[in-house]
Amino acid sequence: MFDYTHDRAQANEIMRIVLSELAELGLPPTPVYITLFYERALKRDASLTKDMDDAINSSKGLPGEVAQDLFDTHVLNGALKQMSRAQDIMLRVMRNMMLQMLNTGNEFSNFASMLGDFVRQLDRSESVEDLRSLTEEVMEDTRQVEQSALHSSDQMNSAGDQIAKLRKELETARRDARTDPLTGLPNRRGLADMLQKNITAQQTTGDHAAFLLADIDHFKHINDNYGHLVGDKILRFIARTLREHVKGQDQVLRYGGEEFAIVLPETPIDGAVAVANKLRNIISQSKLRLAESGRELGELTISIGLTNVTANDFPDSVIQRADDALLSAKRKGRDRVIHNHAQGSSSGPDDIINETDDTLL
Ligand code: GH3
Ligand code: MG
Ligand code: MG
Repeated sequence: MFDYTHDRAQANEIMRIVLSELAELGLPPTPVYITLFYERALKRDASLTKDMDDAINSSKGLPGEVAQDLFDTHVLNGALKQMSRAQDIMLRVMRNMMLQMLNTGNEFSNFASMLGDFVRQLDRSESVEDLRSLTEEVMEDTRQVEQSALHSSDQMNSAGDQIAKLRKELETARRDARTDPLTGLPNRRGLADMLQKNITAQQTTGDHAAFLLADIDHFKHINDNYGHLVGDKILRFIARTLREHVKGQDQVLRYGGEEFAIVLPETPIDGAVAVANKLRNIISQSKLRLAESGRELGELTISIGLTNVTANDFPDSVIQRADDALLSAKRKGRDRVIHNHAQGSSSGPDDIINETDDTLL
């Protein structure tokens, strides 16, 4: 209703119908009659059409006072109702916006107080024109606030980028701090956590795990005979060899100096002894030569101390047992694997291998 934006041809056509109907009924072309018949020709308000038809078909017809009544009821009241509905909607929207603005912070407090004024004026506005010009004012202020909000969101985005960059740098620094630069292996910083995970697994799922400490034999001689640079290359060779010959979830770390630690999750003790001996054999059988002179390097061997992880362990107690076993391997002549088995593990007595079960080549 109340949309009369018809083009000339449509309006002419409608007016032709209106005037011919008025003439037919002998009614004068006053604004009230014209509006009523115009609406009736548009057929968009069924109740108005019905009321008009009822009046026209009654004995009294559609005299001026009845027409005025219909005009007031359908046209005027409808327009007033529509306006107050528009006011209601706008009031609600504005109030919500104001609350949001106030929550957003001080930056928007001017806008919020402007909206407050607007809402008060809206309450008093009496015509659609008032409403329209008020709305335009608010739209303009909204656009300005939007600009400043966009500016703030740009700043937020760039702060977000910086935080992401810092987080990445922190991540890299954290990884660097846990990586040995010479061999690229993780250093011992993460070892306690790894062992704790395996201790917890043993406690919860009963999974066996083993821990190895490997130490290059007489490495000081190698440094003394060939120099530290060759010593470094050997450290890298050993690191690569150990890493290449353990399974996916096994972890090789540089424990310090010429010592390497290996964590073997889900590995029973006899399996761990086999892995340790395999690694020891590969290294002792490697024939290393110096790149420049082609000279063959003397024998290169490692000693390994190994132990099982038990449910009663702490990371340090596991390391201590492996270290004791390593010391024992050195004392017994090097190039060997010594196992220091802790009681209290869930592996049965059949699995127990004591220190005398060290394996020679
Ligand atoms: P053992 O068989 O008893 O283990 O004798 P070892 O000579 O290997 O043991 P020792 O503890 O006497 O000497 C370890 C040597 O390892 C001394 C040190 O200079 C060398 N070393 C430790 N870290 C590095 C490194 O990063 N590069 C080089 N080139 N040598 C290292
Ligand atoms: Mg050592
Ligand atoms: Mg050594």
